[in-house]
Amino acid sequence: MTILRAQKRCVVLVPFFYQGHITPMLQLGKILDSKGFSIIVAHTEFNSPNPLNHPEFIFLPLEDNLSDIDTSSNNILAVIEAMNENCKGPLQDSLAQMMKDQEKYGQVCCIVYDAVMSFGRSAADHLQIASMVLRTCSAFYMQTYHTILQLQAENFFPLQESKLLEPAPELHALRFKDLATPVNTEIPQPVLELFEKMSSFGSSVGIIWNTTEDLDHISLSELQQLYKIPFFLIGPLHKMAPASSTSFLKEDRNCMAWLDKQAPSSVLYISLGSLASMEEKELEETAWGLANGGQPFLWVIRPCSVNGSDWIEQLPKGFQESVGERGHIVKWAPQKEVLAHSAVGGFLTHCGWNSTLESLCEAVPMICRPCFADQLANARYLTHVWKVGLELVEVKDRVVIEKTIRKLMEENEGKEIKQRVLEMKQKLDTSINKGGSSYKSLCDLTEFINSFTV
Ligand code: UDP
Repeated sequence: MTILRAQKRCVVLVPFFYQGHITPMLQLGKILDSKGFSIIVAHTEFNSPNPLNHPEFIFLPLEDNLSDIDTSSNNILAVIEAMNENCKGPLQDSLAQMMKDQEKYGQVCCIVYDAVMSFGRSAADHLQIASMVLRTCSAFYMQTYHTILQLQAENFFPLQESKLLEPAPELHALRFKDLATPVNTEIPQPVLELFEKMSSFGSSVGIIWNTTEDLDHISLSELQQLYKIPFFLIGPLHKMAPASSTSFLKEDRNCMAWLDKQAPSSVLYISLGSLASMEEKELEETAWGLANGGQPFLWVIRPCSVNGSDWIEQLPKGFQESVGERGHIVKWAPQKEVLAHSAVGGFLTHCGWNSTLESLCEAVPMICRPCFADQLANARYLTHVWKVGLELVEVKDRVVIEKTIRKLMEENEGKEIKQRVLEMKQKLDTSINKGGSSYKSLCDLTEFINSFTV
C-alpha cells in the first residue's frame, strides 16, 4: 500500500556543509526515508549537496549570505557564526510555509541538525516542533570538549610542552596532545565558545550518534550521565543506509579496474580526507616511502591539497617512472568501494571519523597520520585502544614511512593487527544486523520520532 506524502511524517535535516559532516547526515536521511519518513534537506547555498543524487529528498536551499566572507577552512569559526546568524530566519520562514502544505511535504514533526548548526534547534523552538542533534563524531572525542572547558575554567591551560604526552584527566587513553585543540598555547575565546555551543543542546529531545556500543561504550555511558536525553547509537551509518553518492568531488572510478589487477591484500590505499593538506616536503617523503616500500598503492591527492600547487606538480622527479604501474594516483576515489575491494590490505589515513568507520567495517588495518580536530583522538583509539592501526611517528621521513608500511603489510605485527580488525568488523556486522545494538537503536529512534505530536 502506498502511503501518501500528506500522511507521512516529515523530518527536516540541517547538515553542516563539509564532506565529513554532510555524508552522515544524508545517510541518516536515507535510513529515515527507508523507514517511511519524508525528508527535507535544508542546506546552505555554499557547498550545497547535489539533489540529483537523492531524488527522494526535498532540498531547501537557505539564503546564507556567505558570498562576502572568506569560506576557507582557516576562517571556519567566523563562517559558522555567520551561517548560524544568517540561516535561522530563512529556515524558520520556509518551514512555516511548508508546514501549511501537508499535501506536498507531509507532517513536519522534527528537525535533526548537525551540532554545528545550532540555528536548526532555534528554528525548531520557534516553530514548536521537536529537535534532535546528530553527532558525526565519536563520543570519546565529544568528551574532550567537556574536559577542555572544565580545565580552562580551572586556569589549567596553557600547558607546558613537556606535559603534552601525559594522560588527560578522565579521558581514558587520550593524552593532552590528543585533545580537540592545542592546549600548550592560549586557547582562543571563539574556540572555547564553539566547544561550549557544540556541547549544549538546549531544548533538543535526543542525540543521534554515528557510533556503536562496542566502539564507544565507556564514553557514551559517561556522557549519558551528563545529558538526560535519549541517545540513539545507530552507526556505522554508511552500513545502515542504502548506498548512494554523497561526494562533492567526482569519483575517479578507473581505480577500480586498476585494483582488479592487483593481488589480494597487496595494495596500500592513501587518503587524507576532504580537508587536510600537506607540505611539499611531506609529499616528497611520502612518495619515496611508497616507492621504496615495494607495495602497490592507490593514492588520493586532492586538487590543491599540497600547499602551493594545483595537484601533483610537486611530486619528486623520477618518482612516477620509478613506480610505474605499481602506483595509481587519483584526485578522489570511491573510498567505500576501494576499502571493500579484496586487493586492499592497508589504509594510510588521516583518521577522520567516517574514514575510520569505513575502514573498520571492511577490516582494513590502518597507518594513522592524524592532522587536526577529532583525527588525533581517533588515531589514539585506533593505535592504543583497539590496536588496529600503527602510528606514523614521523610524517616527513621516507625511511620511517617505508618501515611502517612494511610493518603493516608484511610483518607479524601487521598480521596480528589484521586479526584484531577482523574481530572488530565482525562485532560491527553484528551490531547492524537484525537484533544487533544499532539495529535495535534505529527501531527505537523510529518509534521516538513517530511519538512526536504534529
Ligand atoms: N572520501 C571519498 N573519496 C576520497 C577521499 C575521501 O569518498 O578520495 C570520503 C570518505 O569515504 C569519507 C569522507 O570522504 O566518507 C571523509 O570524511 P572523514 O570524516 O573521514 O574526513 P574529513 O574529510 O571530514 O576530514
